[in-house]
Amino acid sequence: MSMEALAQPGRRPNGPPPELAAEIADQAALLDHADPEAILSWAAGRFGAGLTMATAFGVEGCLILHFLAKIAPGTRVFNLDTGYQFAQTLRLRERIREKYGIEVEMVRPSTTVAEYETEHGGPLHRHRPDQCCHDRKVIPLRRAVAGYTAWISGIRAEETAHRAGGKVVQWDAKFGLTKVNPLLNWTRKKVWSSVIAWGVPYNELHDQGYDSIGCEPCTAPGEGREGRWGGQAKNECGLHIQEHEHGSGI
Ligand code: SF4
Repeated sequence: MSMEALAQPGRRPNGPPPELAAEIADQAALLDHADPEAILSWAAGRFGAGLTMATAFGVEGCLILHFLAKIAPGTRVFNLDTGYQFAQTLRLRERIREKYGIEVEMVRPSTTVAEYETEHGGPLHRHRPDQCCHDRKVIPLRRAVAGYTAWISGIRAEETAHRAGGKVVQWDAKFGLTKVNPLLNWTRKKVWSSVIAWGVPYNELHDQGYDSIGCEPCTAPGEGREGRWGGQAKNECGLHIQEHEHGSGI
């Protein structure tokens, strides 16, 4: 962020320039009831090569890739490869490439799992999952979106209270770029009926009772996000929690 940009009147420390803030608000209202293709088409046209997408190969991400393959197949797509993902998730990357020709880039933390666990005297996901997610997801994401102006995510409003507060187009103060959520207002039922109808590849673990799939040590079968970080209050990895100016989460 340049000093000139920070000095603009009315600009908050973590906020967009005023003109961009106004544009985001306008588009969020205009596109609130739009279908995902229209939202993605706007984003691809507006941000061009500045647009990127993060996917954990969840069913929503796979559906967005289905749309993106038609709308903007050259969009750079990446996965945060923590080193703890399921083998089934990693295989899905190959299936996506075969079906859509989209090469998903693997973005990795600076240490391997073995190095990380040696450094900390064992795995942190058991006792300090927030730290583990921060080190192996948030920091790599920050690096992965540097230089981009917008990113696409597959969050849906009905998943968590945090996500219910989102907009289809919003400013992401945590990472300093525009965030586009084309499936925000879709239900799980609508996502799944579309995936089945259009033959979109999805993670085979969904057929084994896993609704939401993250890292293997922190994911169990269950409805919605109940299988994530079982037994803990945590239900977000930190990527989609917006921070206010003073750093508190919503
Ligand atoms: S989901 Fe679990 S293993 Fe993956 S980064 Fe977070 S705490 Fe670590």
